[in-house]
Amino acid sequence: MKKQAIYLDYNATTPCDPGVVEAMIPYFSRHYGNPSSADHWYGWMAKDAIDEARTEISDLIGAKPEEIIFTSGATESVNLALKGLADFNQHQKKHIITCATEHKAVLDTCAFLEESGYTITRLSTDTDGNISLSEMEANIREDTLCIALMYANNETGVLHPLHSIAAICRKYDVLFFCDATQAVGKLPLDVKNAGIDLMAFSSHKMYGPKGTGALYINSEARSAGILPQIHGGKHEKGMRSGTLNVPAIVGFGEAARICKPLMAVERERLKNLRDTMERDFLSNIPGSRVNGGENRMEHVSNLTFPGIHAEKLLLSVSGDLALSRGSACAGLLQKPSHVLKAMGLSDADALSTLRISLGRFTQEADVFKAIELLKRAILSKQHVVSGMI
Ligand SMILES: *Cc1c(COP(=O)(O)O)cnc(C)c1O
Repeated sequence: MKKQAIYLDYNATTPCDPGVVEAMIPYFSRHYGNPSSADHWYGWMAKDAIDEARTEISDLIGAKPEEIIFTSGATESVNLALKGLADFNQHQKKHIITCATEHKAVLDTCAFLEESGYTITRLSTDTDGNISLSEMEANIREDTLCIALMYANNETGVLHPLHSIAAICRKYDVLFFCDATQAVGKLPLDVKNAGIDLMAFSSHKMYGPKGTGALYINSEARSAGILPQIHGGKHEKGMRSGTLNVPAIVGFGEAARICKPLMAVERERLKNLRDTMERDFLSNIPGSRVNGGENRMEHVSNLTFPGIHAEKLLLSVSGDLALSRGSACAGLLQKPSHVLKAMGLSDADALSTLRISLGRFTQEADVFKAIELLKRAILSKQHVVSGMI
């Protein structure tokens, strides 16, 4: 069997922690009850497991268990938050502020709402990916329903200033919805302290299984009104019907529990590895640049190698390295990243950019191997784009 490539694409998805897999197994085989079955042991066992997972997850983000709605992942959470609020409030509030560098889950949901009569303001960013708070404030209107801004950007790791955003939201009585999918479980984040009203996040970006995620909803957001988007047996306080994915939620809960004591150590370790890697590229590859400035997550590097065809480069090293050109969700079409374009990169530079994202199981030797392979491939000039620069 072919050896596996070194995985450096943790922002696309993380492997399940072995402890997560172990915690899930009994919920496939022995404890297979439906948590809504109130009349027997199987149901009680499943219900207890869900309660425990909900407690672990709410504890991780400083919320109360009853403020967590389980969904199929961050995309669904984003849809429930934005469409749910919009549907309920459509006669009073018809304006949403977001940013050009958001994940497609947010941008496409906003575009859908725009077609049904909402006005969407898409804030621009500076070349480091930072928004202007004064521009944000100046765009707030009488009918602004919410401000939808992410915490950590999935392509660059750039962090938005949650506290300052939340303070402005409060001043104008506008809800703050945050897509914190890339940050939860990796950075300390307390929703109450940060002033977030609704927050989407996902199990498979924090070493849990795919197919489950959560939406945090505080009492302010709840009283503004959110229409459920999936109807049925009134699970999850009627906000999201459908039998709960018990094994996945158990895994999500275990992932949250495992993260807490590891976060600080992991950040330090990955920052050192990333800094070593960035220094090496910057000093050895002429013209190379790191996108995103200083204020970004520790484990992500978004690197531009001008004149290099990133897609061909990644394909040529794919036997040894698994990394990406940017967002995994952008599909196969070779389109320059909307995030990098919003930060002012030319199409050519955006297509010469790759993302390296490290994580819990990345070893120092993996990073050194990646540096050597990428440097050799880039300096061999096999991937230079003729006519593009
Ligand atoms: C991965 C990701 C999503 C989508 O999450 P799913 O759980 O895969 O639906 C949304 N936002 C950001 C920032 C992400 O990184």
